[in-house]
Amino acid sequence: MSHPDPARVAQVRANLDAVRARIDAACAKADRDPAEVSLVAVTKTYPASDVRVLASLGVTDVGENRDQEAAPKAAETADLDLTWHFVGQLQTNKARSVAGYADVVHSVDRARLARALGERAAAAGRHLTCLIQVNLDSDSQAGVIGPRGGVDPRDALDLAERIDEHEALTLGGVMAVAPREGDAHAAFARLRAVADRVRDRYPGAAAISAGMSGDLEAAVAHGSTHLRLGTALLGDRAPIVG
Ligand SMILES: *Cc1c(COP(=O)(O)O)cnc(C)c1O
Repeated sequence: MSHPDPARVAQVRANLDAVRARIDAACAKADRDPAEVSLVAVTKTYPASDVRVLASLGVTDVGENRDQEAAPKAAETADLDLTWHFVGQLQTNKARSVAGYADVVHSVDRARLARALGERAAAAGRHLTCLIQVNLDSDSQAGVIGPRGGVDPRDALDLAERIDEHEALTLGGVMAVAPREGDAHAAFARLRAVADRVRDRYPGAAAISAGMSGDLEAAVAHGSTHLRLGTALLGDRAPIVG
């Protein structure tokens, strides 16, 4: 594998510096230690060569939202020993593939998926950390923009139990995507309340995966421990065709 293109490295390094400055500023404002906030670089639509660029800059955690794209990319960069995060809607029939390369699945939103992941991970001799994806859309919005995934906040503890019962799965915490409309602060505050309830019952489930390129400051203010950042690191994505 050739060395990463120096111009691309310089560009992504500048983006990474800018992102770290934003995270530091958000943490200072929230009186939090930046060491509590992990960065997951979401590489969807970008080539495996960009995964190498990120790794060369010290990024250890990468995320993808579609198995068709993630599986080959993870295979191409297996030598880098990265931690792979699956962050997108996941069909049960993809559980076997995802359990083969992912370390953390952020988007567990139903018991059937937890069971499929638990069985597939066990069969592959692997271990997965699972986050409960929580739906923060109000009902009216869900009707307009379509479901974005996630359990109703009231069902989060039931799903936590369904994840926790699998030997090959560890309940890691919660995840959400802020609604497209409305106040990200209010949404992330709701997620925080769900996270607190889950952690009361499962003290190890401390992760709060919240915050993307446009709303990382609001997420940090409400306790995010894992920021999922794509465009801020790699640039605007080309529209997905088909
Ligand atoms: C694409 C994606 C991200 C990253 O979004 P950016 O706005 O590019 O930072 C985060 N989370 C999920 C679930 C995504 O699909």
